[in-house]
Amino acid sequence: MTKKRIVLTFSSALVDQPLTYHLVKDYDLMVNILRGVVTPNQPGRLVVEISGKKKNLEDGLHYLEGLGVEIQSLAQDIRWHEDKCTQCTACIPICPTKALNVNRDTMEVSYDKDRCIACELCIAVCPFKALDIQF
Ligand code: SF4
Ligand code: SF4
Repeated sequence: MTKKRIVLTFSSALVDQPLTYHLVKDYDLMVNILRGVVTPNQPGRLVVEISGKKKNLEDGLHYLEGLGVEIQSLAQDIRWHEDKCTQCTACIPICPTKALNVNRDTMEVSYDKDRCIACELCIAVCPFKALDIQF
């Protein structure tokens, strides 16, 4: 039994496709969706844990790649240290899933872990080290 945590990024044309259903049905894999952002006419992103026989897992991932799905390994989670955050908003435009968001009325920054796909883009732009990787 092999288990992988991965990020799947796919074009808006594939958003309506039952990708995880095919992994389960055709490749006998178990798919646990950890987080997901699927918005009409936008690229979709899913953070999933997939487990099954090694060969089935390889074949299932090849199937996804054949459809044009980008696959990245996910080895860690992101932590937001609210106490270090100065609400500067530098991270807001770079976050692709709006896991980091700002309330335009109060200008308060917030972090929604359920939307985070651990792409790590925010870490480099935060001048106050309020974001880091949790191993
Ligand atoms: S790692 Fe940072 S930039 Fe990427 S989705 Fe999570 S909060 Fe947003
Ligand atoms: S870049 Fe860092 S300090 Fe600025 S709002 Fe984002 S988390 Fe807070």
